[in-house]
Amino acid sequence: MHRDSPPPLEYELVRSRRRSLEVRVRVDGSVQVRAPLKLAAYRVEAFVDSRRDWIRDQQQRMAARPRVRWRDGDPCQYLGEPLTLRVAAAARARVARHGDELHVGVPDPHDEAAVSHAVHEWWRGLARTRFQESIERQFPWFAERGHRLPVLRVKKMRSRWGSLSRRGYINLSLALMQYPPAVIDYVVMHELCHLEYMHHGPAFHALMDRRMPDWPARKRRLDG
Ligand SMILES: [Zn+2]
Repeated sequence: MHRDSPPPLEYELVRSRRRSLEVRVRVDGSVQVRAPLKLAAYRVEAFVDSRRDWIRDQQQRMAARPRVRWRDGDPCQYLGEPLTLRVAAAARARVARHGDELHVGVPDPHDEAAVSHAVHEWWRGLARTRFQESIERQFPWFAERGHRLPVLRVKKMRSRWGSLSRRGYINLSLALMQYPPAVIDYVVMHELCHLEYMHHGPAFHALMDRRMPDWPARKRRLDG
């Protein structure tokens, strides 16, 4: 009896000053492995091999996910409002909202990546003001507890909606601009509560319950 060897798994290897190995599967199914600078290649291989089933699982999940399209007539969301994309040719990228339509001009209207990029840049232009307002409106209670106002950074985040760093930054995902203000407020409140507790234990959730009693309903809108 002979055993078929599994097909080779292709991945991108990124070495950096880090201590541990990490593997991630991108939405397009491609695999990236992050490794310490000097870790032997055979140990990287062994690690990838040990994660093979998990990687295949992730790739199947990614493939099953409905793909977001960026064509003329496709739906898109802005602050929880459903809009319709209207894509046309334009010398330079531009985006403007007209009622329930989002008009996007790009050099090639069939270039979905360019349309997506233009819309993300449009979100970016509006996100800072929107997120900052939410932070400052919800911050006074934390200020009374002696916390300093965290500095906002708006980022394209891969797998999270937000994070709070011990160095005083609150990072929020640009993609939150698709969601209703109540959901954005929930993510901001979650991160602000990390000023008190750097974990997700019972004390953290008790604080969330006090600061935002309806947070589970808001979270469900984010997860759904
Ligand atoms: Zn958290």
